[in-house]
Amino acid sequence: MMTRPVVLGVIAAMFVVAIAAQSRQPAGTSHNGKAFRFNKVKEGVYHAVGTGSLAVVGNSSFIVNDNDVIVVDDHVSPAAAWVLLEEIKEVTNKPVTTVINTHFHFDHAHGNQIFGPTVQIIGHEFTRRMLLNNSTGMPLYQNYLTAMPGQIEDLRKRVASEADPAAKAKLQTQLQVTENNYASQKELKLTPPNVTLTTQMTLYRGSREIQIRYLGRGHTAGDVVVYLPNEKVVMTGDFLTSGLSNMSDSYPDEWVASLDALKKLDFDTVMPGHGEAFTDKAKIDYFQAYMRDVWTEVSRLKKQGVSAEEAATRADLTKHKGQLPIQGPGVPLIAAQRIYALLDGKAN
Ligand SMILES: [Zn+2]
Repeated sequence: MMTRPVVLGVIAAMFVVAIAAQSRQPAGTSHNGKAFRFNKVKEGVYHAVGTGSLAVVGNSSFIVNDNDVIVVDDHVSPAAAWVLLEEIKEVTNKPVTTVINTHFHFDHAHGNQIFGPTVQIIGHEFTRRMLLNNSTGMPLYQNYLTAMPGQIEDLRKRVASEADPAAKAKLQTQLQVTENNYASQKELKLTPPNVTLTTQMTLYRGSREIQIRYLGRGHTAGDVVVYLPNEKVVMTGDFLTSGLSNMSDSYPDEWVASLDALKKLDFDTVMPGHGEAFTDKAKIDYFQAYMRDVWTEVSRLKKQGVSAEEAATRADLTKHKGQLPIQGPGVPLIAAQRIYALLDGKAN
């Protein structure tokens, strides 16, 4: 009497698992070789940097604990996050139980949808609000997405006309990477954090302590850093990168003070959302100095009555050239527009 329902139950369960596994693999995951290089920063703490064989854009990090894995940020697409999980399996077979989004931007949170309902996705309340309220309609992502068909078209033409076999193969890879990314973006379902915080949350995993801290408005109104006090490492997303950060949703005038709060934490290594992990804390000073000057310079130009477009070309930050990747005069238009909006009280 008992056997039949049990057997049916098992078959049903297998069916559900098969469906779930199938629906999880998104379009656009194909690539040659490894998609990630894992830089082991501390015991069990890895920084995942894209190799270029798949579009991943931002870096992620992952923390291998006694019984589980915590992933910090999940890249630009469901495909990139799916491949990240595949490659993490080569390091550990422990399950990913937790994902932390440092902020809502597409290159850090567009992999969220591939995680099952039992996975906790943690982020600031602001991050949840943005992902719930159509963050993909904002200029940063719109500019990124709408440029893709043109890039694909252009690459196709270049592949067709390239005579040198090595150059042709390189272009062919770029084309494949862009096409796969575009295919995955089409399957995007914005998935907000299902656990939120406003100031601080701490996860305990055996001897590991994982602090998630909001240090004030900066890169967005809801960036968090992930701080491991025992390992003395901090994962900063785009609140602090190895170079310059995007400013489209930032509060440059408050960011400097928020970075002062970061400096108060006791760490020796930064794992940023873009660029390699680094130990040189002077980079924080350089970035603060740059940001102070961007704010002053763009404000000064605005007072002179010039347009944001003109301010973007005229703002001169070249004195920071030695410390930051700056080619010549000018700031990104999106940064100038943001500062104008803040000064006009029109930023959201
Ligand atoms: Zn980013």
